[in-house]
Amino acid sequence: MALLQIAEPGQSPLPHQVKLAVGIDLGTTNSLVATVRGGRAMVLPDEQGVAMLPSVVNYSEQGTALVGRGAQAMSADHPSDTLVSVKRFMGRGRDDAAAEASRAHYQLAEDDEGMVRFVTSSGEISPVQASAEILKLLHRRAVDTLGNELDGAVITVPAYFDEAQRQTTKDAATLAGLKVLRLLNEPTAAAVAYGLDSAERGVIAVYDLGGGTFDISILRLHQGVFEVLATGGDTALGGDDFDAAIADWVLQQSDTETPQPGQYRKLQGRARAAKEQLSSDTSATISLDGLTPAGGAVALTRECFEALIQPLVKQTLRACRRCLRDAQLDDAVDNVVMVGGSTRVPLVREAVSEFFEREPLLDIDPDQVVAVGAAIQADILVGNRPEGDLLLLDVIPLSLGLETMGGLVEKIIPRNTTIPVTRAQEFTTFKDGQTALAVHIVQGERELVADSRSLARFELRGIPPMVAGAARIQVTFQVDADGLLNVSAREQATGAQSSVTVKPSFGLSDDQISGMLQASFSHAQEDKQARQLAEQRLEAEQLLEGLENALAADGDALLTPVECAELHAEMKRLQETLDDGELSALRLQTEQVGRASEAFAARRMDNSIHRALAGVSLEALEDGERK
Ligand code: ADP
Ligand code: MG
Repeated sequence: MALLQIAEPGQSPLPHQVKLAVGIDLGTTNSLVATVRGGRAMVLPDEQGVAMLPSVVNYSEQGTALVGRGAQAMSADHPSDTLVSVKRFMGRGRDDAAAEASRAHYQLAEDDEGMVRFVTSSGEISPVQASAEILKLLHRRAVDTLGNELDGAVITVPAYFDEAQRQTTKDAATLAGLKVLRLLNEPTAAAVAYGLDSAERGVIAVYDLGGGTFDISILRLHQGVFEVLATGGDTALGGDDFDAAIADWVLQQSDTETPQPGQYRKLQGRARAAKEQLSSDTSATISLDGLTPAGGAVALTRECFEALIQPLVKQTLRACRRCLRDAQLDDAVDNVVMVGGSTRVPLVREAVSEFFEREPLLDIDPDQVVAVGAAIQADILVGNRPEGDLLLLDVIPLSLGLETMGGLVEKIIPRNTTIPVTRAQEFTTFKDGQTALAVHIVQGERELVADSRSLARFELRGIPPMVAGAARIQVTFQVDADGLLNVSAREQATGAQSSVTVKPSFGLSDDQISGMLQASFSHAQEDKQARQLAEQRLEAEQLLEGLENALAADGDALLTPVECAELHAEMKRLQETLDDGELSALRLQTEQVGRASEAFAARRMDNSIHRALAGVSLEALEDGERK
């Protein structure tokens, strides 16, 4: 009888079998899947040999979803059933997304948690479902090409994506049957594609001009860790605007009145084709057949095209300048990486190279560079490079912390900390006998909760009643490799525990994130003062509360009526300065009340010592009082 060979658990029967892993660039305009084969990263094309999949999903009355070029073709006739730029809606609340929707002519609804949904002929569709359709198609394409089920995938997201946007991206991938190894920042993926991660150190600018968005990221590499120094850009600037500039010029040239929306879309399509042709040719022809009664064609030279888009290109450079300033660099950047289809435009290349004073890297197809980097990372993560390639680490884009008394933010994990990370800090109670603690998790760089973004709240109950400040509550923040946050709180004496995984119902737009970052830079001084004021207020409030309790207990016994009146007057003044909210006055008056109450405090202490010396313990006294 032949012996059957059985592999050890967790080990493959073929020790050197290569695992199948892919990288997916889930783009606003186009999506791609790539893998590493024979040591080389390559994108996987469809049956027609086309790698790029338009990120467009069409829903029909039959409830079927059509993805890609087919869906794109339906866009003119079925605008509300054809979802484009779904990425802009990921992890966003209904109100958040209203502006996006009006641009896209969608009808929106919301789910129970206030998250946005699209109203289509197939019913209400969430951005997660629509993204999952795109991912499903790429998943199927990879399985068909590679001949087997995948072991894992790396999905890229913009560096500025927040918790909610990352979580929904991961949800979409899971829904598409993919095993997500890691979410990876798009600029980081682009840097990896160029092998920049193997350098010792360096500063990298990633200039990503896509269809509808412009992103600029400044990364710093240090010992295998990419740190996002700054991100910036424009969510409403991209190749589509180049198309629109051409279309408007054509209308001017041909003296055509504003055409019907359907016709304008047709014209935009022709403008886009001309634009793409002008990246290699010096002139292109745009046909007017079916657009104007007379028909015919107009010729567009590259020179003329460049004049049309010059202001738009300048706009991207302004964003670059801001981003560089935010990054607070001492030296120049070492490398500039070009990403996105629109960086094929020669004028864009020239402008970028002139701005950064160095030749940008553009050997790798700018459409594919993000997917290629993701594939390389996926290959490492599934363990295909046992010779020990460094695992790439990412960092969190905005600080995470919680609210403490006085509306202040205590940062637990500062921005740019590499993930995964776990940080714990001890907190205590504010009031005597407090048995519950409200934990409010916030994100952002500012000192005050009011200026930060609220992520989640939860309560820790079952704290044994103790005097204020005696309970010890350990709060732990844990961010996993995908940037998802889990927060738990534990009371040390009883072990009472409570936790929450942060999946906030409203995402932030990139504008808001860069706005929040910028605000934290420009408000640093203001914030410091606000924090000082809040801390001073807290001190004053605690002093007043303590004094009031003490006066109620011992005031009559230990103070003369005159002393009592004087102390009350100082306390009243402190209350007034508290209401005014002026820092130096508040500080002075707090000190004043402290001095005015010194004698009272001393007498109280004497008194309690006397009582103790009389052989009565304080506990017994208090017990006696309670009876
Ligand atoms: P996204 O990251 O938003 O998904 P892409 O990186 O795929 O977008 O870029 C799409 C944009 O690139 C479109 O506006 C498209 O017209 C433009 N584009 C693609 N090829 C060229 C080309 N050869 N010349 C100029 N623009 C191009
Ligand atoms: Mg892109």
